Amino acid sequence: MAAEVIDGKLVASEVRARVADQVAAFTTAEGRAPTLATVLVGADPASEIYVANKHKACEEAGMRSVHHSLPDDSPQDRLIGLIEELGGDRSVDGILVQLPVPEQIDPDAVTRAIDPAKDVDGLTPTSVGLLASGRPGLVPCTPAGVIELLDHQRVELEGAEAVIVGRSNLVGRPLVSLLLERNATVTVCHSRTRDLDRVCSRADVLIAAVGVPELIGAGHVKPGATVIDVGMNRTADGLKGDVDFAAVSEVAAAITPVPGGVGPMTIAMLMVNTLTAARAGG
Ligand code: NAP
Repeated sequence: MAAEVIDGKLVASEVRARVADQVAAFTTAEGRAPTLATVLVGADPASEIYVANKHKACEEAGMRSVHHSLPDDSPQDRLIGLIEELGGDRSVDGILVQLPVPEQIDPDAVTRAIDPAKDVDGLTPTSVGLLASGRPGLVPCTPAGVIELLDHQRVELEGAEAVIVGRSNLVGRPLVSLLLERNATVTVCHSRTRDLDRVCSRADVLIAAVGVPELIGAGHVKPGATVIDVGMNRTADGLKGDVDFAAVSEVAAAITPVPGGVGPMTIAMLMVNTLTAARAGG
């Protein structure tokens, strides 16, 4: 039987509509709209599109957004100076530095410079520590979006076997904490994992965040599992996930497509984080 397709576009639009309602209430109560500041160093066309999409989402949610563009050859000190300025600016609730940054700049130093209270990407050491220790804080957007999709699908996480393929700081590792928080039994796989198919096939919930097109096939999936595909891989045949959608659809109970699955959730959760930061600081 074909799996139910989890519609990320629909869930993301619901999240964004919910945020827009809450933003309107915040703006009325506080006399100002939640504000996201974005910073882009250089003129990478893909990064420019990502940043433009974030501003559009802010506008649709009724939030204010401001953008700062720095030239490609900007020294690290100049970028850090700007981040610190934004950290001290009471009219700014969230700070997002679009990555990657040019090679003269250390991305870790940039992340460390962000005020944790405005860390809407959830990547500062403070945010990482809060999440890892199960305390409230700002959570990275893509993993938060995965949990939102699972909740929307009413997937029972308590006691479930959850297997994550990938251990990046951006996706895999935060998901470990988020799933543990929900009392799942969590296993993490990576490039040195032996018998990946065997480990994956015990999952009730299988999450692929690998960056290898269609690595996960039907043989990796337990019948009836929920499969979340974070992968976004540009190939000669177009955008592909980490999961072989056609094959896995025959085995899983529910699956996210690529595109239209996890992708749209990332910006939606950025809006959630910006509102959360505004409420905490407002
Ligand atoms: P990453 O930093 O490159 O991490 C990839 C992880 O996969 C690593 O832990 C790596 O293991 C593991 N891995 C690589 N090859 C493997 C294999 N053959 N078997 C098992 N594990 C393997 O990637 P990422 O930033 O997490 O991104 C993963 C994918 O998600 C990419 O396609 C990316 O474009 C996509 N993504 C999508 C969104 C979205 O909004 N939808 C957001 C972020 C990322 P090691 O640690 O051992 O090297």
